[in-house]
Parts: sequence; structure tokens; C-alpha cells
Amino acid sequence: MKGNRSRDTQPEVAVRSAAHRLGLRFRKHERPVPDLRCTADLVFRSARLAVFVDGCFWHSCPDHGRPPRTNESYWAAKLRRNIERDRRNDEDLRARGWNVLRIWEHDDPHHSAERIAQLVRDHSCNELAPRFGE
Ligand SMILES: [Zn+2]
Repeated sequence: MKGNRSRDTQPEVAVRSAAHRLGLRFRKHERPVPDLRCTADLVFRSARLAVFVDGCFWHSCPDHGRPPRTNESYWAAKLRRNIERDRRNDEDLRARGWNVLRIWEHDDPHHSAERIAQLVRDHSCNELAPRFGE
């Protein structure tokens, strides 16, 4: 398996289309901050919101994320590194003034889209202010 953030997974597509139906506009598979090596699944630039749709296995969801029985220590270490990287990315993004939302692939896509819409509303109050560097 290459990489652990594969593009256009089914849960991700479901969240994107639910968000589109709510009238949300966003970019997909983009680095919120160009010099941070971190690609978000949905990026809302004006609200400075980065959304990640995390796979239950790769990101160790509390309900479904369990390392496979074979090579358990290998997987445990690998998955732990993923969690650490997720946290680091979240911190780096927040340090640059971004809002971060992580969604599990098992979450209901419509409910997730509502949460996204709420955050976009909450953080878009400066929509009419001049923006620099975009
Ligand atoms: Zn899960």
C-alpha cells in the first residue's frame, strides 16, 4: 500500500457531495499552507478551515482502528506514527491560524457536512475584509 491518505475514497466523496449540496464551495486535496507538507481533503480558504476525512484503520479510530494480528508490533508502531503526524499537522495548521476539522470515515456524511457548514459560517465573518496573499 502506498501512502496512507489515498485520494477520493468513498467516504471522502460522500462528504464532498453532501457539502456541495449544502452550497459549500471548497478546494480539494490542497495544502492549506504551501510550505507545510500537509494536504487536507477539503480546504475552505476564506474560513481558513482544513477538513480531513480520516480512514478508521490508518488513523486508528476508537471504534474500528485495530492493528492487524499479523506483524502486530510493526503495525502498532506505524499507526502510532500516523497519529503523531496527524497531531503535529493539526498543531502546525492551528499555529498558522487555521481551523482544523477531522471527520472519521464512519461518520454520517450529511452530519459531517452540517458540522463543516457551521464552522464555515463561524469563521467567515471577515469575508468582506481585504485578504492578502491569496
Ligand atoms: Zn471508525
